[in-house]
Amino acid sequence: MSTISLNNYVGGELTMFSASQFTPVYNPSRGELIAQAPDSDAHEVDRAVQVAKKALPDWADTPVVERARVMFRFAHLLEENFEELARLVTREHGKTHEEAKGDIRRGIEMVELACHAPTLLMGQALDQVARGIDGRVERHPVGVCVGITPFNFPAMVPLWMFPVAIACGNTFILKPSPKVPLTPLRLAELLTEAGLPKGVFNVVLGGNQTVDALLTHPDVAAISFVGSTTVAKYIYETGTAHGKRVQAAGGAKNYMLVMPDADFDAATNQIMGAAFGCSGQRCMAGSIAVAVGKAGDPLLERLHDSATKMKVGPTDGNSAVDMGPVIDAAARDRILSYIDLGVKEGAKLNTDGRGIQPTDGAEGFFVGPTIFDQVAPQMQIARDEIFGPVLSVMRMEDLSEAIAQANQSQYGNGAVIFTRDGGAARTFARYANCGMIGVNVGVPAPMAIFPFTGWNQSFFGDLHIQGTEGFHFYTHNKVVLSRWPSPEDPGKRVLGW
Ligand code: NAD
Repeated sequence: MSTISLNNYVGGELTMFSASQFTPVYNPSRGELIAQAPDSDAHEVDRAVQVAKKALPDWADTPVVERARVMFRFAHLLEENFEELARLVTREHGKTHEEAKGDIRRGIEMVELACHAPTLLMGQALDQVARGIDGRVERHPVGVCVGITPFNFPAMVPLWMFPVAIACGNTFILKPSPKVPLTPLRLAELLTEAGLPKGVFNVVLGGNQTVDALLTHPDVAAISFVGSTTVAKYIYETGTAHGKRVQAAGGAKNYMLVMPDADFDAATNQIMGAAFGCSGQRCMAGSIAVAVGKAGDPLLERLHDSATKMKVGPTDGNSAVDMGPVIDAAARDRILSYIDLGVKEGAKLNTDGRGIQPTDGAEGFFVGPTIFDQVAPQMQIARDEIFGPVLSVMRMEDLSEAIAQANQSQYGNGAVIFTRDGGAARTFARYANCGMIGVNVGVPAPMAIFPFTGWNQSFFGDLHIQGTEGFHFYTHNKVVLSRWPSPEDPGKRVLGW
């Protein structure tokens, strides 16, 4: 398989430049190098920003129904190319074909949301706010927007951002994870095919120096970020210090409480998906299961049974597997070192994913499903985001103790309860200190119409990604007060008052 040298996509076409540094792009199922992503420097970033800035006035002046029409065509093209896109996601990320289809589907739902721009951008109006004066609120684009995205959803996370930003009349520069650049570049081609004017959407490849040049560029107005917490905080602090509007979503460690009255089979099914789906590389991954009261033994037995039956292997082959590889060798080694650490810390290794033999003997970046029992809150495996297929099980006496423990987490994306008791579910939903709650739902990731409401160290900013909050982030309000005195004001007489 040949290795492709990739280019940026600026002004509606691929742009060649000579980079001095590259990030390798792998097919994680085979450990094969498939492409090289160049690291754009400040000069390349400025080139893209100037193109986006030049395209801004015409695009911002384009009637919103015409902007929405481009999004309708884009959604249609994504449907037409659905299978090809899913295969591309699988190839560069390693998730299973079904998971890749989910990545695209959730992304298309964001484009469908962007098609509602004419309704969602409507302002407010009130006549006669003072004598002879009418008032209205309008929503205006903020300018050149930037999206910086992680590796774990090559399609969905970029699509969380740019369709809404563009439908709002902004121009956009996407800086995707250099580990998964192929899908974003294909999305850019499809947007051009959908009729988007050149320069409205651009893709700039690179790593830290590219991000820094975008964060500090005086012509960038807003930055959307999704990635790990340390970087999210840095992006928020640096971006706002440079006068930009920033929304920055970070990492997580999501708790799943299992009450003694839960349907254990259904809960096990949900927990398996939450812990091991996408090989545990999800910010909404359920990484800690808290067995409350007598739930521990029946739960552990079922989890172990299901985990040992999972088929792990390459996702680009013909045979169906339940779980694919992790993104690269560094991620695999980091996850394996966390499993070693858990053993050292004294947790009981119930299911060991080390030394897994993947199906068809593929030499990719594999870690098998791993379950620790008897995990104590102070252990590092209980506190850190491992971002791999490692599930920690804790045991607690009652609901209050379990909620109090979950609320110790520095993060705040999601928390889940499995129970048949409405009162327990209500108490949990009210008091869990995080932004997305699942009741008998393992991964409470909201649909496009709702905001993705991370709390605490899982989000920095005010307006979240998705839903109407996304439209608010990519626009600012303008209040217009008008006085138009009429030379012949019939006043109340025409109403017969
Ligand atoms: P990451 O933070 O390493 O990288 C994210 C982006 O930031 C990439 O584009 C990368 O090039 C850039 N970047 C990385 N380090 C940087 C630095 N020092 N300076 C400037 N830019 C830098 O994250 P990742 O490993 O690609 O993705 C996994 C993380 O993303 C996990 O922590 C996961 O929880 C999180 N995530 C969060 C959400 C959410 O909605 N909260 C969604 C998906 C993923």
